[in-house]
Amino acid sequence: MDRLSRKFLRARKIPGTACSGCGLGQVHKRILLAIEGLGLGKDDLVWGTGIGCAGRQTFNTWLGDNFAGTHGRVYALAAGLRMALPRERRIVLTVGDGDAFGIGLKHLLNCARRNLDLTVIVADNLGFQSTGGQYGPTTPPGAVTDSSPYGLDEAGWLGPDLDILEILRAAGATFLARHLSLDGQGSVESVKAAILNPGFSLVHFIYPCVTHFGAVSLAERDKGRVLAWFREAFGDGPGEPGGGAGEGPGPRVGTGFLKFGRGVFHSAPGSRPDYSEQVKDWTRKMARGQGGGLATGNTP
Ligand code: SF4
Repeated sequence: MDRLSRKFLRARKIPGTACSGCGLGQVHKRILLAIEGLGLGKDDLVWGTGIGCAGRQTFNTWLGDNFAGTHGRVYALAAGLRMALPRERRIVLTVGDGDAFGIGLKHLLNCARRNLDLTVIVADNLGFQSTGGQYGPTTPPGAVTDSSPYGLDEAGWLGPDLDILEILRAAGATFLARHLSLDGQGSVESVKAAILNPGFSLVHFIYPCVTHFGAVSLAERDKGRVLAWFREAFGDGPGEPGGGAGEGPGPRVGTGFLKFGRGVFHSAPGSRPDYSEQVKDWTRKMARGQGGGLATGNTP
């Protein structure tokens, strides 16, 4: 158990059950470094988790208050908590790509529309990996998976002309960033900025799933080569996935997906009100007998 784990996590949950070489631990570490860097303790933050590999690895690990919401519903629970808790109490959610951009997308967009003061960390393994490796909303086009044996032929949210972060920006999010789990201090700074933003924030981490995405879509079991593919595919130096010429079948993934820059994608703190603060304001006014007609502008 390392220093950060001892400080913030429950001993009985360490080590986690992620496959050896999985990038999830790196994402988790970036979050803990950001929390520590902001000088926050276990009582300053409530941690919620979703379903799948990302939710399973962070479920109930946080020493402070935490909760789980299955299958895209963690945002609805977090919205209620946000209305109930004081602003000083931060709420961080760790969810997967299916949870965020698939089954939970409607809830996620509504949190962005309301600019609710939540920090959503999406740990994206490019498919439904915890159930054996089926394609999901961010699986690269052309990828061979268990549910696309001839290569994925539908557009995803990481297409060359379609980026889920653009949709979230249009929906009203006030802080958005994207990183690979392999990114260093820059990704920690993004998480810190997300936690500090008084509105809806999301940091999209893409990380290597060595067990399914690596073994099936990249036809590669060497973890170093899987990591090299991620660096190359997402714009950070040369990689040689698939073993190079003569050493294996090579990646079974198309090239028509988004090459994106990494770092802060959108930052507009304070540009929109946080709906939960409005609700608290109305509640205070109603408690003072000033509530009638507030929603229609008929202030007493
Ligand atoms: S299945 Fe993939 S994403 Fe899930 S824990 Fe294993 S390596 Fe990580």
